[in-house]
Amino acid sequence: MDCIFCKLVNGDIPATLLYEDDDVIAFEDIMPAAPSHFLVIPKRHISTLNDLTDEDAPVVGKLQIIAAKVAKQKGISEAGYRVVMNCNEMGGQTVYHIHMHVLGGRSMTWPPG
Ligand code: IMP
Repeated sequence: MDCIFCKLVNGDIPATLLYEDDDVIAFEDIMPAAPSHFLVIPKRHISTLNDLTDEDAPVVGKLQIIAAKVAKQKGISEAGYRVVMNCNEMGGQTVYHIHMHVLGGRSMTWPPG
């Protein structure tokens, strides 16, 4: 499958890994949109949020748990951070393997663009 995040999971392309277990990895975003910007993804390929099923609940929950743990490790928890998941074209999704963005280190604005 020609998925850049699957290649990253398999070690075929480099990444700055922040966390790894059997189900998920977290790594630095290659084009950070904030002083701290990392992604948390399931190792198993899931194209979009629309493809989730009830069976995916544990791994989706884990994405959020790991996002919070890594945010704490990176020292952005207390000041605060934003978690974003984009879905399909109008949601701004460019990589079709679900991923949770975690952005911190600056004040966020609302609504997002
Ligand atoms: P999306 O626009 O919500 O799909 O976010 C995709 C994110 O993946 C963007 O923030 C990209 O900068 C990031 N990205 C794309 N390729 C890589 C990579 O090889 N390593 C790390 N981040 C990547």
